[in-house]
Amino acid sequence: MSDARTPGFATLSVHAGAQPDPATGARSTPIYQTTAFVFDDVDHAASLFGLQAFGNIYTRITNPTTAVLEERVAALEGGTAALVVATGHSAQLVAFHTLMQPGDEIVAATKLYGGSINQLNHSFKSFGWNVVWADTDNIQSFADAITDKTRAVFIESLANPAGTVIDIEAIAKIAKDAGVPLIVDNTMATPYLCQPIRHGADIVIHSLTKFMGGHGNSMGGAIVDAGSFDWTSSGNYPLLSEPRPEYQNMKLHETFGNFAFAIACRVLGLRDLGPAISPTNSFNILTGIETLPLRMQKHADNAMEVAKYLDNHDRIEWVSYCGLPTHPNHALQQKYLPKGAGAVFTFGLKGGYDAGVALVSNVGLLSHLANIGDTRSLVIHPASTTHRQLTDEQKVTAGAGPDVIRISVGIEDAPDIIADLEQALAAF
Ligand SMILES: *Cc1c(COP(=O)(O)O)cnc(C)c1O
Repeated sequence: MSDARTPGFATLSVHAGAQPDPATGARSTPIYQTTAFVFDDVDHAASLFGLQAFGNIYTRITNPTTAVLEERVAALEGGTAALVVATGHSAQLVAFHTLMQPGDEIVAATKLYGGSINQLNHSFKSFGWNVVWADTDNIQSFADAITDKTRAVFIESLANPAGTVIDIEAIAKIAKDAGVPLIVDNTMATPYLCQPIRHGADIVIHSLTKFMGGHGNSMGGAIVDAGSFDWTSSGNYPLLSEPRPEYQNMKLHETFGNFAFAIACRVLGLRDLGPAISPTNSFNILTGIETLPLRMQKHADNAMEVAKYLDNHDRIEWVSYCGLPTHPNHALQQKYLPKGAGAVFTFGLKGGYDAGVALVSNVGLLSHLANIGDTRSLVIHPASTTHRQLTDEQKVTAGAGPDVIRISVGIEDAPDIIADLEQALAAF
């Protein structure tokens, strides 16, 4: 490959960050299953601890297998650097820890993964980080929610569970005008379908557990730094702009420039909060990413087939798949995810709660469980599982009314997925 050529997405998915192992020639990235790394000498150790040199100390902070995964995710998203951690939720914890002081606020979209709504409403509040909710379908509500305490705007590119799309560029402009970074959770889309940094995101978050790893076998999370945000001039991000006493009063933004956020997340958040990924999980996710473009296209193509089938079925009341031309977000999907509308969406059954329970009880090929982004097709009835503790009214607001089924369409043959739904719908 000549240096002048920019590799394409599929090439980056296979190669970014990886080289044959310098010690053994191993072509596949080895699993460096070790806790710690031997120093060359005392001076080398001192320079690593003082952030004067890059290198490995201890797997809580860096690991060579995980480093390849970090470079690959950064390359696919078009960021300057990335940090990989144990789960998507810990990626959010570490990212917000780097931005927030007690009393600060996050403006977040109402249409978010249920686990993220819990994290923001409960655990983050116990740190003194307050959430102000803005309506995904009303862009102006984001501008209205911003105050002088706002330190971040948080949205999902393609929202879990309903698969709706938000106008990323409009929100990015509001965040930029207010001088706060836009954080986009890109878990459901993956960079194959949407690259939020190209549309103005400053930070991208992933649950690598889902489509990135893609095989339902390993948990992981990522934080990608776009390198676009000025962390110093407002004085609102002291972890990045102020001298760090434990690192010889180094200022992280001044020292590390356009990858300072990724560094700060590692040397402050990951160091002290501790959610490191296991090297074996990094290896599994790296292997998954090699086929990301092939899998995501198949996921999206299958989901379109399944959505069309359900849309024409007389036992189905409605289908929320933004790839369908009748969906209110279809134009946004065409703009932000032109290759496909993802693989996760919701639909409503005639017959309400009992019909929902009956459907998930009668599937065979499809698995009834709480996950998305597996090679296998998955279904869940939120009202009887993830959302069962809510009142009926709260369920409806959360998009988990009694009739709602969420499906994550896998990469099996579409006619087989449809046949399984057909027999399940005929069984009650
Ligand atoms: C699953 C998920 C998360 C949380 O990720 P974990 O790896 O389960 O911690 C965050 N955001 C979205 C959109 C998700 O689907």
